Amino acid sequence: MEMLKGKRAVIFGVANERSIAWAISQALHGQGAEIAFTYAGEILEKRVRPLAEGIGAKIILPCDVTKDEEIDQVFDTLRKEWGGLDILIHAIAFAAKEDLSNPYVQTGRQGFHLALDVSAYSLVVLSRHAAALMEGRKGSILTMTYMGSEKVIPHYNVMGVAKAALEASVRYLAHDLGPKGIRVNAISAGPIKTLAAAGISGFREMLHYSSDRAPLKRNIDAEEVAQAALYLVSDMSSAVTGEVVHVDAGYNIMGM
Ligand code: NAD
Repeated sequence: MEMLKGKRAVIFGVANERSIAWAISQALHGQGAEIAFTYAGEILEKRVRPLAEGIGAKIILPCDVTKDEEIDQVFDTLRKEWGGLDILIHAIAFAAKEDLSNPYVQTGRQGFHLALDVSAYSLVVLSRHAAALMEGRKGSILTMTYMGSEKVIPHYNVMGVAKAALEASVRYLAHDLGPKGIRVNAISAGPIKTLAAAGISGFREMLHYSSDRAPLKRNIDAEEVAQAALYLVSDMSSAVTGEVVHVDAGYNIMGM
């Protein structure tokens, strides 16, 4: 049985076939969901369009989340083409390279604003638009975070602060949208080699460190995140909202 048959999902955050958002897209598609994609700029369109078309997507639109007019365009199109929406996947983050290598104390005002705008505020604005299309449909909103929000991970810096804001936003949005039957959750994934991860200095070290110390003694892959995403966007988690679910081979529970 297809768990998401008849459901419509919009996905923000596919850059290439390694993206966590792409693994989630495939899992949702495999369960019968119809999917709309967005991409952040022309260069990424070349990567995203063939992937999206390969799973039958008809709506594939540009959306840089720092541009309100592009966000409006995406949701206007969804309203016209679909009339409603069931699932929003938010898998977007960005910080300037120097802010992921210099000490956190050196973060400038502009770099701070950029990281928080793209990585945290975008969930708020996208959720507001999505909620308007989710009326009466038991919608589900899912975002991606990392435990650099809870504990210090060297070099994660301003992104850890942005993820803390993102996780708090999950709780406030869950409170606001709960009365409409809309759920909002996050997955806190362990490190996975993707384009975004390549921007964090010492990422390879992070991979070794976590597989060494995690109870399951290994790293995770994007498909495992996608399986957890299926749970969080489907009726299997109908009473779960405002949660941050760790998919990290247990790494976060360790004290020593
Ligand atoms: P990725 O590079 O494949 O995805 C990041 C996405 O963010 C890209 O698609 C990029 O286009 C998008 N993006 C950046 N700036 C944008 C903007 N201004 N407007 C619209 N989109 C923009 O890498 P990923 O690892 O799949 O990252 C997806 C999410 O998962 C991110 O939120 C990331 O922080 C989170 N995450 C990743 C890991 C990991 O180790 N890879 C672990 C935990 C959480």
